[in-house]
Amino acid sequence: MSWFKRDRKAIDSSVEDRRVLTEGLWIKCEGCREPVWKKDLEANTNICPKCGFHYKITARERLDLLLDEGWCEFDAGMRSTDPLKFKAAKAYKESLDSLPSRIGVREAVLNAEGTLAGMAVIAAAMEYSFIGGSMGSVVGEKITRSIERACSKNRALVIVSCSGGARMQEGALSLMQMAKISAALALLDKKGLPYISVLTNPTTGGVTASFAMLGDLNVAEPGALIGFAGPRVIEQTIRQKLPEGFQRAEFLVDHGMVDAIVPRKDLKNYIATSLRFFKE
Ligand SMILES: [Zn+2]
Repeated sequence: MSWFKRDRKAIDSSVEDRRVLTEGLWIKCEGCREPVWKKDLEANTNICPKCGFHYKITARERLDLLLDEGWCEFDAGMRSTDPLKFKAAKAYKESLDSLPSRIGVREAVLNAEGTLAGMAVIAAAMEYSFIGGSMGSVVGEKITRSIERACSKNRALVIVSCSGGARMQEGALSLMQMAKISAALALLDKKGLPYISVLTNPTTGGVTASFAMLGDLNVAEPGALIGFAGPRVIEQTIRQKLPEGFQRAEFLVDHGMVDAIVPRKDLKNYIATSLRFFKE
């Protein structure tokens, strides 16, 4: 019975084509659940034009946004060596080898020297797409070097955090970075040089527990998740329900843990004004 048989090929290939053409042009906003055109989002420094939800940006975009044109990177060549030969679902070495070519950075932080509204600064910005912006020995060393450079050149320091915390693939070596960086920041403080910490979504774990909270000024982007342990772990430990908005930037400002919430668009001006204030 050829009536019920399909002699010709199904026309599924054109359906496939259609999907490829529209794929990725629109996203459903995490903040307002509305469809947002990706181009609109990009033109708006990755902030939802409808609800103001702040999406992550890369470390390079961040430095372009904060620093004046002509900033240059330093310590760009440093790479982790996988000292523990760590293997979980994926071998650590595999990530270390494949990520730089895929996302264009060699580690989860970029160090930069340049000017911010005409003032000479040292800046570091974390890159979340590199193993969740986690802090291993190279991230710790690079941040320490940025602090030391600020000390030796008498410059203000700005660090933008975006991190899941210490890098488990380097075990205790990651945890040691917290103390090393904090000690370097104490030297910066002794020299009377300002350090502004910018906390973006998310800033958690060992990064929050060390340099992200040690700024002379700790400012956060709106809605940023900031905390040490995750809410589920805390609830299970203290056996209490956590309040609404717990660990969000707004909650932390209300409770004195963060100094101010500054939208991404105002961040450069805000930091410039603060640095001028510190100078006087
Ligand atoms: Zn939105």
